[in-house]
Amino acid sequence: MNEPEPADVASPERVAELTAGLTAARERLAAAARDAGRDVADIELLVVTKFHPASDVRALVDLGCRAFGESREPEAGRKAAAVRESVAESVRFDMIGTVQRRKATSVARWADRVHSLDREAVADALARGVATAREEGDRDGPLDVLVQINLDGDSNRGGVVLDELDALADHVAGLDGLRLRGSMVIAPQSHTPAHWMEQAATAHARLVASHPEAVEFSAGMSGDLEDAVRHGSTCVRVGTAILGERPLRSP
Ligand SMILES: *Cc1c(COP(=O)(O)O)cnc(C)c1O
Repeated sequence: MNEPEPADVASPERVAELTAGLTAARERLAAAARDAGRDVADIELLVVTKFHPASDVRALVDLGCRAFGESREPEAGRKAAAVRESVAESVRFDMIGTVQRRKATSVARWADRVHSLDREAVADALARGVATAREEGDRDGPLDVLVQINLDGDSNRGGVVLDELDALADHVAGLDGLRLRGSMVIAPQSHTPAHWMEQAATAHARLVASHPEAVEFSAGMSGDLEDAVRHGSTCVRVGTAILGERPLRSP
């Protein structure tokens, strides 16, 4: 017997779940913006669909979402291609997970933006990947990148430590094919999210002072988006609060 094909279309029950999750997340974001005295239109809701099937992404496109976050090659590239082939709307896919150097070219083929750049060698590989993808007709423009900042020095978490932020930003800004657009942070578990978001905002301000074009500040997830919005986030990356718990295995 062959394995059954994965369902191509989300069930009505799943669509109802996604609708409820999305509505609740949008309301949370609107309330967070209001509390922070900010315009919600200035804060992007990036829907993190990693590990969830393309059918969920398509259902979310039907619900009005246009920007998605994915974290792992080759699952991410396959899903982006499957969605783009099957919906009429133009959708964006951002890479939010650590980029491995040997997968940089495949990421450069599908990603509209990379949030998680943390090493010069990966920046170089992505720049080469962009050149290759352009030559082969797989992409038009340069790749927007955010540098991921490591707030607590724990190297398991990814991100560039504060001491090396300026050097990495300068390096990225000097590469053809990449456009430095801002920074990304993941709040560590120790301390409160408010503590880390304040630190992140300070580091981000330092980046903007030396690179005025790098205004994007990707901060906040399901658990801490309110603190991130209060500290100036321009993009919250929300998975679980919209899609529920992630399946253990990629579809
Ligand atoms: C998975 C992931 C998210 C989404 O996290 P949730 O807690 O599910 O909202 C956000 N950012 C990054 C970098 C991630 O890897």
